[in-house]
Amino acid sequence: MAPFRNAETVLVHRCPRDGRALERREVASVVVHHCAGCRGVWLDLGTLDRLRADGRLRNDLADDPCAYLPRPDRLPDATRAVRCCECGQTCARRSYAPGSFIDVDVCVLHGMWMDSGELFAALYFEGLGSVA
Ligand SMILES: [Zn+2]
Ligand SMILES: [Zn+2]
Repeated sequence: MAPFRNAETVLVHRCPRDGRALERREVASVVVHHCAGCRGVWLDLGTLDRLRADGRLRNDLADDPCAYLPRPDRLPDATRAVRCCECGQTCARRSYAPGSFIDVDVCVLHGMWMDSGELFAALYFEGLGSVA
């Protein structure tokens, strides 16, 4: 679904699962696009690398409501392909990382969609604030 610009001309993404306007949240200087409906998140390209590199960011993000565990009553149909919030192309389903058991939907040009709970699982997988 194509993004649009709101009154403040900030680019607003739409949830690839349910079409809601995503809430733009800044957590420790990283922007996360959060769906209040299904609680999935869109991460812009590069956001994840910053999270991986910075344990403090991971801690802050894990404390944020957008990393909440899934709401069982609002789980999306994960078998449906996700379209990129930015270009609308079908994202590729990829393993988040070997051994993570997390499947994410990736647009190599724009970013990554994580269904509800997957961001938290990924942060946990990364060891939250521990310095590896
Ligand atoms: Zn949603
Ligand atoms: Zn894209």
